[in-house]
Amino acid sequence: MTSPNVPTLQLNNGTTIPQLGFGVFKVDPEETTRIVTDALEVGYRHIDTAAIYGNEVGVGQALAASGIPREELYVTTKLWNDRQTDAPAAFDESLDKLGLDYVDLYLIHWPLPQRETYVQAWKALEKIAESGRAKSIGVSNFLVPQLEKVLAETGVVPVVNQIELHPAHQQPAVTAYSREHGIQIESWGPLGQGKYPLLELPVITAAAEAHGKTPAQVVIRWHLQSGFIVFPKSNRRERMAENLDVFDFELTDAEVASITALESAGRVGADPNEVN
Ligand code: NAD
Repeated sequence: MTSPNVPTLQLNNGTTIPQLGFGVFKVDPEETTRIVTDALEVGYRHIDTAAIYGNEVGVGQALAASGIPREELYVTTKLWNDRQTDAPAAFDESLDKLGLDYVDLYLIHWPLPQRETYVQAWKALEKIAESGRAKSIGVSNFLVPQLEKVLAETGVVPVVNQIELHPAHQQPAVTAYSREHGIQIESWGPLGQGKYPLLELPVITAAAEAHGKTPAQVVIRWHLQSGFIVFPKSNRRERMAENLDVFDFELTDAEVASITALESAGRVGADPNEVN
């Protein structure tokens, strides 16, 4: 069971993932236990962290203290860039910090195309998955050439590709390629990280008014109805609850289309080709 009303999506290895979760990028390690405890109390069961966030210990403490059965939780962490040639040890460290026997999903955080070590890292992740200590493995910030290479050289298809995705930046080429190959898309920065006035755009505020919901709820609903997995972040309990309260309304096809039409190649994060 996951949190009330949150649908699950099927992954290509037969497992399922709650489509809505809670992300902890930039959550201060000192505050993480409190913030993740709030998120669990509010009803989230899917937590997205990463080694580089420096808060795996706090996430693990909150999970342990919650008393929620492990099988009701879905935990993702990620292999940081400086460990692509050292993935087995990096994974052990993450698992240890989280205080878990397994994670549900382990991702390569960035492809670092210039270094050409991501295929080696992917093969290491395959072994971790075979050991059962990661139930699923996937990638993040991979563009089409890197997905092609992983598929051609290993034949093991990532279950997800976690990419920057919000109305102004939908990455249609990588999304189409991923879906063609059975790779689900996870949207990071789903609210544009607050870096452009997404929540003030008339298309969004009009839909919010029409449904008696907030602009953030409209954008989260757009991700869900577009088939993306999404885990907005907030340190504030009332916003955590707001972002989870999106299952009592549905955007019309016209509203979804008008939000999709906001695409403008408006990246707010790093260019995966330039992260090295
Ligand atoms: P986000 O789009 O979720 O934006 C978070 C910000 O939006 C908050 O800090 C807050 O200012 C604002 N916000 C949240 N709820 C709101 C509400 N209801 N109303 C108004 N404003 C609200 O950005 P994010 O945290 O970067 O992305 C979500 C998660 O994606 C991260 O926490 C992390 O888990 C993951 N992520 C992954 C990568 C990657 O490279 N794989 C990169 C960035 C983020």
